[in-house]
Formats: sequence, structure tokens, C-alpha cells
Amino acid sequence: MKIRDMISKGEPTVSFEIFPPKSSYSLETVFDTLGELKDLHPDFISVTYGAGGTAQSNTVEIASRIKKDFGIESIAHLTGCTSTKEGMKRTLASIKDSGIENILALRGDIPQEKLADKNWNPEYRYASELIDDIKAAGDFSIGAACYPEGHVDSINKVDDLKNLKRKMDHGADFMITQLFYDNDLFYQFKEKLDLVGIEQPVIAGILPVLNIKQVKRIQEISGCNLPPKFLRILERYEHDPASLQEAGIAYAVDQIIDLLSSGVDGVHIYTMNKPDATRRIMENISCVRKAVCRKEPQR
Ligand code: FAD
Repeated sequence: MKIRDMISKGEPTVSFEIFPPKSSYSLETVFDTLGELKDLHPDFISVTYGAGGTAQSNTVEIASRIKKDFGIESIAHLTGCTSTKEGMKRTLASIKDSGIENILALRGDIPQEKLADKNWNPEYRYASELIDDIKAAGDFSIGAACYPEGHVDSINKVDDLKNLKRKMDHGADFMITQLFYDNDLFYQFKEKLDLVGIEQPVIAGILPVLNIKQVKRIQEISGCNLPPKFLRILERYEHDPASLQEAGIAYAVDQIIDLLSSGVDGVHIYTMNKPDATRRIMENISCVRKAVCRKEPQR
């Protein structure tokens, strides 16, 4: 099923993101994880796309097996910045042959060595260009990334919004956000989308914080705002990993319940391939999900 059709039913989706293991050797571990996530009845599962190597072909294989073997809808992430047009044609053909109907179209993070190479001339400079080629390759439902606090490379937030609008005008059906920890910033972002006339649904990306190392990395990559309530948790449980994990799960649950109660189009949980934390979150939101969503956990 196409995700655009799921969302158009007007009930919020609850979905997960997983990432492929770095080598095919450990591919089976991800299927063990999926076996556990399946019981939580997500509306769909997305599979990230690595910067290179085997992880890229694994994305297509995993997304295809999620659909065929686990009976759950899937979406394959796809990045353009390091790909040639010819290579992308082949990848899109393999995605189509695998029966995958949904693609999250991304520019990708540009590798340092490419940024340092003055002669580097990417065939895909922006996600919007990739969206054009996905549309030409078949009838996929296309998602795009969006950034409630602005993309780290953007010169200013106005241009960032204009670029997002361009991406949606090229044919993306919906957006999935970068993680955020301050729901108010998400609601303000939604208002800005209304102002610039972006009408496509926005799925909120939630990453439960499970350890300190992860928070430092998140800050490095996204520069997202950490609200006082969140900082208090980090400060209090910095040296107590079990309590930090407990508090991280509770914080994510609080965010999700607020979003679902406020009529969000969907919630996408970055599972980090950790089914236990995801299960705890899903158990905690089950009543609210039952009240607002079509698909209920069958327990
Ligand atoms: P774009 O939409 O192309 O935007 C990139 C930058 O260029 C922005 O600053 C934008 O304002 C600017 N821009 C866009 N169009 C123009 C234009 N025409 N002229 C001038 N400036 C422009 N990365 C991976 O490698 N693999 C993944 O699987 C992956 N999954 C992700 C999933 C989600 C939900 C999110 C939010 C991000 C994901 N990323 C992933 C990270 C993403 O690839 C990076 O954030 C990347 O730096 C930007 O990708 P984009 O598709 O948003 O780029």
C-alpha cells in the first residue's frame, strides 16, 4: 500500500525506522529485530540508506522482505548525493522489481572527502532532483525529509522553507521530520508550512534518548534544541544509565501522546534497532493510539 493512501485516511500513522547492518554477514540480526517489531503493529517500517557499500543493497532487500515476509508496509530511504544518474536508474529498477511502493527521497549527507574535492560535480545536488527521477521511474509514493528547526546547511530558515516547498512541488507526497525534543517547535514549524502553502502531511520523527553518547551525537548532527525539562533529565541521570533509559522512554511517550492528542499526521519512531525500548513506548501509548488510530495493538 502506498503511504500517501494510508495518510489520506485521516488517522495518524505510527511507524518505525530501522537501519541495515553494515555487512551482509550480520543481515539476519535485523530480521530478528523485525520479528519483535512486527508484534507492535506499526503502519509501516522505513529502512535507512547508507553512504555506500553493501548497506545500500541491503536497504532494498530488507524493505522488500519487511513487506513480503513480515506483511508490513515498507519504505526504502534513497540518497542521491553520491550516486550517478545511471546508478540511480538501476537502483530504482531494483526497488520497483522488489515490489516496494514507497521511497523516502533524500540528498544524503555529503561525505567529507567529496566536500574537500574542488572538482566534485554531483549528479544530484538536491533531493528535489532525485524526486524528479523517482517520479519518472514509476508510480511510487514519495516522502521527503523536513527539519522543524531548519537544516544544518541552510543559510537561513526562510530559504530552507522555500527549498522545502520546491521539494514538495517536485512531487513529494508527505514529509518525515528530523528528530526534535521540543513539541512547541514542531507546532510552530507546522504554522510556517501553512504560511508558505505546503499542504502535504507531516510525520513527526521521535528518537527516544537511551544513552548520553547518543545525545552528544544528536547535538553534533542536528543541532536540535534541548528544552530545560530534557536537560534536567540528562543532568540528573548522566551517570545512571538505567534511569536515563527509563526517563528517555518516558520523555518520548510524553512527546508522542501530546502529538497524537494535537492531531499530528503520524509519528515515526527512530528505533535504533532496539525493539525493547520501542515495545515499552508502544505499550505506554496503546490506549491513546487505540483512541485515535485505525490500527490497534492486538493484545
Ligand atoms: P535537501 O532537501 O536537498 O536539502 C539539503 C540542503 O540544501 C538544505 O539546506 C536545503 O535548504 C538546501 N537546498 C535544497 N534545495 C535547494 C536548492 N534548489 N537551492 C539551494 N539550496 C537548496 N541520510 C542518509 O544518508 N541516509 C538516510 O537513510 C537518511 N534518512 C533520513 C531520514 C529523515 C527522516 C531525515 C530527516 C534525514 C535523513 N537523512 C538520511 C539525512 C539527510 O540525508 C541529511 O539531512 C541531508 O543533509 C539532507 O538531505 P535532504 O534530503 O533533506 O536534502
